[in-house]
Amino acid sequence: MTNPLDRAMHHARAWLDGLDTAPVGGRATADALRDALGGPLPETGADAGEIIDALAAGAGPGLHANAGGRFFAWVMAGSLPSAVAADWLVSAWDQNSGMFTVAPSTTIIEEITGGWLKDLFGLPPECSFAFTTGCQLAHVTALAVARHAVLEQAGWDVGRDGLYGAPPIRILTSANRHNTLDAAVRYLGMGEAHMESVATGEFGNMLAEDLAKKLSGPTRPTILCLNAADLNVGTFDDFATLIPIAKAAGAWVHVDGAFGLFARTSPAYRALTEGIDLADSWATDGHKWLNVPYDCGMAFVRDAAAHRAAIAKGAAYLSPSPDVRDPSDWNFELSRRARAVPVYAALRELGRAGVADLVERCCRHCEQLVSGLGALPGARALNVPVLNQGLVRFERAGATDAENDAFTDEVIRRTNATGEAFFSGTTWNGVRAMRVSVVSWRTNEHDVSRSIATVARVLSEAVAAA
Ligand SMILES: *Cc1c(COP(=O)(O)O)cnc(C)c1O
Repeated sequence: MTNPLDRAMHHARAWLDGLDTAPVGGRATADALRDALGGPLPETGADAGEIIDALAAGAGPGLHANAGGRFFAWVMAGSLPSAVAADWLVSAWDQNSGMFTVAPSTTIIEEITGGWLKDLFGLPPECSFAFTTGCQLAHVTALAVARHAVLEQAGWDVGRDGLYGAPPIRILTSANRHNTLDAAVRYLGMGEAHMESVATGEFGNMLAEDLAKKLSGPTRPTILCLNAADLNVGTFDDFATLIPIAKAAGAWVHVDGAFGLFARTSPAYRALTEGIDLADSWATDGHKWLNVPYDCGMAFVRDAAAHRAAIAKGAAYLSPSPDVRDPSDWNFELSRRARAVPVYAALRELGRAGVADLVERCCRHCEQLVSGLGALPGARALNVPVLNQGLVRFERAGATDAENDAFTDEVIRRTNATGEAFFSGTTWNGVRAMRVSVVSWRTNEHDVSRSIATVARVLSEAVAAA
């Protein structure tokens, strides 16, 4: 008998210690993983420690090293040491963190952590909050409250009467939105057909004139969704201009700040978020820029009473505690993981200054990558990063746009195949580009120069092969 916790510790340390030398992208095919991990449902049990050994061996080849310093795809980071360790404790403690009655410590940790986050992000102190599974569910939570509130304003009780016969809710967004907003609108029964795009400028920023025009008719239930950093170039909407226009028309304003809300934590980048505190709700992620393990998003709502009215369950058998914040009053889940605990640890590990430093380092490394890659022969930076997101396109002289789209994808594919660095692609303003996204505490100057050198080598090989 081997102790499974000791084995898990061993494999976890081996994985984390190997991040600098292991291939950055997972290598195994789906079939190889099915072979290594699959087979029929076991008829009988096995030794717990051996299961952990087999699990680590089978999964290893298909693991992406996004916890390392040279993973720049999507907006995926690693986790801070204290956050990983705290996450282990969450599993070992196994507290059902829906209510204080059954999980006193983790409920109070959540209460403390929510307060710290409001302070960190400079959000109104009266805000309520929810720790969700990610930004997707933070959108669903915040927009469920928005739906409740804008319909109440129109004299409709959505909790009692549902959406049957309710006045339609118009959702104003821009073409530059994240698709999790569309999903949230769908999940909440508001209907994608009721989403309207406001015109945007060159970098996907919402235009005030068009917003004012769209809001100029008779008042009707409206939710406006704005960006605190879009995922291609990190564009922030002009909150200080747009939010007052929307509020004057009685709209609810929701902000997608999945990673961009963190700009607010740094004196160097805070100006990008000016006026963001005028909104009604905000969604962000812990598992992106705060570098805590997955299963961590956060929603904040200015009108705490509306939040509670829309979400709380209130069953008598649950013995609610009158003077304590029960997480189940603010979250969709009843039984739930204590997902604030790793956030608590991360905030203690970094402090306010450490969060700002993490944000600023990632932005600096993004700028270095984009300018370094953009200076390679045949490469072109499509933006000067305003935050931690950038785009680079690869082109050959005399080639068509479509050929250069394919060439850009080929450079990304070849780069990822080296195992030295990992990037994803995107289509932006009609052309393919390599995305450069930096969100990990581990990324350092050496990772930056090593990654640029890799792309330089791959690029000349791709040119020779073309
Ligand atoms: C990642 C992201 C989301 C979705 O967040 P999840 O945590 O993956 O649910 C939403 N909006 C933006 C801008 C994002 O970058």
